[in-house]
Amino acid sequence: MDTTARNPIAAAPTLPIKSAGDAGKIIYYANHRLDHVPQLERLAPELVAGIRLAALVFPFKVNSYVLEHLIDWDNAENDPMFRLVFPHPDMLLPDDLAILTRLQNSGDDDAIAAEVLRIRNSMNPHSSNQLINIPMFEGQHVEGVQHKYHETALFFAKQGQTCHSYCTFCFRWPQFVQTGAEKFEADEAAQMLSYLRAKPEISDILMTGGDPMVMTTRRLSVYLEPLLAPEFDHIRNIRLGTKALTYHPHRFLHDKDAPALLDLITRLTNAGKHVAIMVHVNHWRELQPEPVQQAIAALRKAGAVLRSQSPILRHINDDAAIWSRMWKDQVAMGIIPYYAFMERDTGAHHYFGIDVDRALSIYQEAHAAVSGICRTARGPVMSAGPGKVHVLGRLTHGGSEHFVLSFLQARKKEWLNRPFLAKYSQNARWLDDLQPSGSENEFFFHEDYRKLTDAASDMHGQSQPLMGQPLLGMGA
Ligand code: SF4
Repeated sequence: MDTTARNPIAAAPTLPIKSAGDAGKIIYYANHRLDHVPQLERLAPELVAGIRLAALVFPFKVNSYVLEHLIDWDNAENDPMFRLVFPHPDMLLPDDLAILTRLQNSGDDDAIAAEVLRIRNSMNPHSSNQLINIPMFEGQHVEGVQHKYHETALFFAKQGQTCHSYCTFCFRWPQFVQTGAEKFEADEAAQMLSYLRAKPEISDILMTGGDPMVMTTRRLSVYLEPLLAPEFDHIRNIRLGTKALTYHPHRFLHDKDAPALLDLITRLTNAGKHVAIMVHVNHWRELQPEPVQQAIAALRKAGAVLRSQSPILRHINDDAAIWSRMWKDQVAMGIIPYYAFMERDTGAHHYFGIDVDRALSIYQEAHAAVSGICRTARGPVMSAGPGKVHVLGRLTHGGSEHFVLSFLQARKKEWLNRPFLAKYSQNARWLDDLQPSGSENEFFFHEDYRKLTDAASDMHGQSQPLMGQPLLGMGA
């Protein structure tokens, strides 16, 4: 399959590399200041009006670093970085767009607010069955923690539930806007630490968000310093999921507590912890500016290892050449390619999502275009309710075509390392769209998964405080 045919983003140019600049002058623009973004004066008024409308529904925040270093303003509408941070009216379904346009023209603010809430809640805001990821400990829900896989716990610190800029595709969009439900987060470390202390099987903690790198170093230390105590020797890997490397690289360079952050990483690594910076990078363009390269050098010098991940996204990176260049550039800079995900079925999925079949072609074509040292990224991977399902390839067998799938991570270890077949489908976009090959009605793990979710729902249902809270994604 030619995955680059008629794809306008394939021609996204390299921008002039800009130097570090003055980190002290970073300016943030959120919804209410959208009209103050100076570069929007260069766009057609109809496009700006459409962005304004879409930003009523989708989170919007961008900073001056992203505006000045990452976007090609000479061709903004087709620019992948522009699409990455500016909501587009096509992210709304046609009927929703029409209603919202009509209401906006009417000037009825209450009706607009009600419609915005209705649209948000219609976009599957809590996309996975993640209630069951929240552990119970000593009769309580462990606030801000998800424990889906045996050896890995996620922690959502309250102070990290925002980002340096928002990505339009983000599956955690309900964390940033009102959807009628509370946020999933914890503002203290004690309960999380008690849980980790009691769980020697947990070797990895992933700080996620939002972006934990919006927190001050002092706040981050409150969560991470205790892990240096001998009672947490079983926590061997500390992962920090972040997009600060490309949205605000000065976090690691010129922010006033950047040296303290690097020092914290060094102390963790000197104590024998593996500190992994799990960077979101969606396009090679993000890696071009000089400050990014300086930040990578600073993090590596501090002892961190950098790994990268991104979904394959229509309008942003659904092109094999983008992925192969991204992986090559990352390896040259010292970043290990880690995951190429399928976009989750939430938010503007109709706009960013692509079919499993096409994602597989993009991944395979990119994979074939790089050397073995760049082939560390697994993909396409669906981070679904039962686990991380890897689409390994297509297989013709018994006169018909199939997808070969396997779990990279699973709620039950017995599901791992057990390849299974799904009927080939040209249009499937997610695990739920796929049918098992052969005569079975459901995949081998479904019955167990049902039992797990039923048992967890019963358990959580007995504890009132959690009910009604949103359940966020598996993190970075
Ligand atoms: S959580 Fe990550 S993907 Fe989502 S808006 Fe923040 S930086 Fe972007």
